[in-house]
Amino acid sequence: MPDLFNPTEEHAALRRMVRDFAEREVDPQAAEHDRAERFNKKLFGKLGDLGLLGITVPDRFGGSDMDATAAVIAHEELASADPGFCLAYLAHSMLFAHNLAQNGNDEQRTRLLPGACSGALIGGMCMSEPGAGTDVLALSTTARRDGDGYRLDGAKMWITNGAVDDHTLGDVFLVYARVKGAPRSALSMFIVERGMAGFSLGQKLRDKLGVRASPTAELVFEDCPIPAANRVGEEGCATLHMMRNLEIERLTLAAMSLGIARRCIEVMNRYASERRSFGQPLRAFGQIQRHLAESFAEFQAGRSYVYQVANNLTLSGTGNRVDSDGVKLYCSTMAKNVADRAIQVLGGYGYVGEYQVERLWRDAKLLEIGGGTLEAHQKNITRDLATRSHIK
Ligand SMILES: Cc1cc2nc3c(=O)[nH]c(=O)nc-3n(C[C@H](O)[C@H](O)[C@H](O)COP(=O)(O)OP(=O)(O)OC[C@H]3O[C@@H](n4cnc5c(N)ncnc54)[C@H](O)[C@@H]3O)c2cc1C
Repeated sequence: MPDLFNPTEEHAALRRMVRDFAEREVDPQAAEHDRAERFNKKLFGKLGDLGLLGITVPDRFGGSDMDATAAVIAHEELASADPGFCLAYLAHSMLFAHNLAQNGNDEQRTRLLPGACSGALIGGMCMSEPGAGTDVLALSTTARRDGDGYRLDGAKMWITNGAVDDHTLGDVFLVYARVKGAPRSALSMFIVERGMAGFSLGQKLRDKLGVRASPTAELVFEDCPIPAANRVGEEGCATLHMMRNLEIERLTLAAMSLGIARRCIEVMNRYASERRSFGQPLRAFGQIQRHLAESFAEFQAGRSYVYQVANNLTLSGTGNRVDSDGVKLYCSTMAKNVADRAIQVLGGYGYVGEYQVERLWRDAKLLEIGGGTLEAHQKNITRDLATRSHIK
């Protein structure tokens, strides 16, 4: 029987490598960076040494040329140690590097991907705005033609890796905008780099509930000149790029939920044996058994769904929307519920930082919002099912 979660020896080796790295180097720094709301840039650079930053990028551009299942494995393993750090990884490797590898031209890929794969450049993707999130086609960032190039005006909100510290912008971004006069659905995508005139840090966002080790920022574009060479794809054709990238984004966000749930189950499972009450280990009590058993079964169901979708996802294609919405809809709430039960099983010890589950519970909530809210997934799935009379 092939192993659904590690379909090849290469996948199994990748999982062993990332799990070992996560346990040795990511886990020990997680609580401190969560408390300080600080991005660990040095540790991020080590992901480049491991070949993870360009995990799906072709090797001729410095990447590891692996598939969607490999991306899911990396996100599951990193999130089991530190979902905040993993979100910064996702924004860079999936929303920037993978997006550019799929949709950019060879000049853009040669210019930017080797640096993104090594960690010399830190990237992100700018879709959301202060006034437009779920209704993304209502975005108001505008590109005005100026000679051969463009001038960009607008603001982007909630941008992961937007700032790498309190004052410094990330290095490079893929920014969705509408060329002046284009219809609502005809978005374009531009590469914007730190140092370009008119591109600045609006604010680094603070006091997030969770994923606090990932930097989140508002970015501002004021009459920002964009050379024609920085337009990705044809003018007005980036809506398809966005939809294609959302599929791998949602799949890897679901993989983050798996990492959170698995870790919480491991913590409550151990604790239920060690902690005694009324002369017995906690696991002897039916109510505790319910927390543990339901968490395990729901995690396994979500994990099977995620890997089944990943194993069938072609990175250069589309057509997986219903299931990329489906895995995230199911796994995000599953992980939040599992983390909640873990806190309950640990009682007071679950409510403080020592066992990590309170941090994982806070981190899990982000996955019901970022990359598409639960309501957006429900809306998309219902719309897609309207054309199907049978489910394969
Ligand atoms: C920590 C963090 C990191 C992020 N990173 C990035 C990033 O790197 N790049 C990026 O572009 N974005 C990023 N985002 C933005 C994220 O994708 C958006 O927050 C998300 O898409 C929701 O948009 P919104 O916050 O504007 O909420 P809104 O769209 O205003 O929604 C508010 C509420 O209304 C509901 N709602 C809206 N429309 C409907 C409808 N038609 N039917 C039913 N309910 C509806 C929503 O589900 C939600 O409950 C990030 C967000 C966070 C919090």
